[in-house]
Amino acid sequence: MENRRIYHIIGAGLAGLYTAKLLKEYNPAAYVIVYESAEKIGGRCQSFFTSEFGCQVDNATHVLLNCNSLAQSLIGKECFQHIIRFYDIHHTKFIPILRALDDVHLAVFNSPHTSYRQKFYLYCQLFPFWGLKAYFSGGDLESRLCRPLLRYCDEIRYGWIWKDIRLSDTFVYQLIFNKGSVNILPNDIIISAIDSYNYNKIIGGFDFEYSSICNLFYRTSMPLTLPHNCRMLGIHGGKSQWLFSTSQYSSVTISNSGTANIHPRDIWQEICTIRNYNSAFLPTYQIRNFPRATICQDERNNAKRPVSATTSFQNLFICGDWTMKNRPCCIETALRSARRVCNTIK
Ligand SMILES: Cc1cc2nc3c(=O)[nH]c(=O)nc-3n(C[C@H](O)[C@H](O)[C@H](O)COP(=O)(O)OP(=O)(O)OC[C@H]3O[C@@H](n4cnc5c(N)ncnc54)[C@H](O)[C@@H]3O)c2cc1C
Repeated sequence: MENRRIYHIIGAGLAGLYTAKLLKEYNPAAYVIVYESAEKIGGRCQSFFTSEFGCQVDNATHVLLNCNSLAQSLIGKECFQHIIRFYDIHHTKFIPILRALDDVHLAVFNSPHTSYRQKFYLYCQLFPFWGLKAYFSGGDLESRLCRPLLRYCDEIRYGWIWKDIRLSDTFVYQLIFNKGSVNILPNDIIISAIDSYNYNKIIGGFDFEYSSICNLFYRTSMPLTLPHNCRMLGIHGGKSQWLFSTSQYSSVTISNSGTANIHPRDIWQEICTIRNYNSAFLPTYQIRNFPRATICQDERNNAKRPVSATTSFQNLFICGDWTMKNRPCCIETALRSARRVCNTIK
C-alpha cells in the first residue's frame, strides 16, 4: 500500500458506502477501508429475516420519490411505480395532494415545524406534484440500495466502534476504536459517516434534539386490497400516516411519533376502516419505534447543522443525512452528502 492514499470511512450506512463508491470511481488506485460498529451494513437502512413473519422485512418501510435523482440512479427508474395519493379517513374519500401538503411536509421532515427555506427546498423538489412517483421498500431495502455498494470497499471491519482521536495540532494522527488504534499517514483522509448522536459523543459540537418514527408491520399472507387498488396510501386525519401493502405484509409509518401511545389494535382498526372491512382478528404484528430516527428538523436544530463537509481538523471530513443544512434527513440527502464530501476532498 506504499504511496497509495488510504480513505478511512467510519460508518457503513448509505452515506459511508456511497462515499466509498464515489471515491473509488474518482481514484481507483486508492484503498478504501470502512469501519462499522454493527455486524452488518446499512445503518438505518437495513433488512432482516423475521421467523415470525417468515420473510425478509426492512427495519422501516422507506419511501423514495422519482425526484430523488441519486437514489433513482442507484435502484433504477423502473422501481418508481406508485402514484402518491391521500385518503381522508374521516370522509372516506381521496383528497388532492394540495390539501395534504402538511402530511407531505411531516413525512419528509419528520417534524411539523420547519423553516421557510426548508419548505422552499421541498416544494422546488416536489413540483410538479402530479408527476411524482414513489418506490417503497418491501424487505429489499438493503439488497437494492446498500449491498451493491459493498464492492467499492477494499476492506470492511465490522464491530469496530470509533471511540476517539489523537491529535497533533489540527491533524488527526490516530483513530481509536474498541478493537485497537489505527495510525493515519499524512496523505490519508478520514471521513466520518456516522450519525450525529454518535459523532457528537466523540467529537462534540452537534448537540441536537431528535424526532422519532414508529413503524408497525402486520403479517398478511396476501396483499391487502386498498381503495382504488393502491399499494401505498397517505392517510389524512388518522393516527396512521402512511399505509403500505406488500405481498407478505402490510406496514404503517407514523412520523414524529413522540411518546404518543400507539396501539397495534387501534392502527389495525384504522386499516380496516380504510378498507371498509370488518375484521375480528388482529394479525401477527411487529412494532418498531426509533426514538432517534432523525435529528429534529425544526428551525432551531436545523440552524445547528454544519454548512460544509470540513471540520476543524485538516484530515477529518463529515457526511451523513444530518450534515446538510435545510435538507430533509433522508436517503437522498445521505447520498448527496457523500457527493459533497467527495467533491470537497478532491
Ligand atoms: C424509521 C425510519 C424511517 C425512515 N424513512 C425514510 C424514508 O421513508 N425515506 C427516506 O429517504 N429516508 C427515511 N429514513 C431516513 C434514512 O434511513 C436515513 O436518512 C439514512 O439511512 C441515513 O443514512 P446515513 O448513512 O447518513 O446514516 P446511518 O444510516 O445512521 O449510518 C451511520 C452508520 O454509522 C455507524 N456508526 C455509528 N456510530 C459509529 C461508531 N462510533 N463507530 C463506527 N460506526 C458507527 C452506524 O452503525 C451506521 O451503520 C428513515 C429513517 C428511519 C429511522
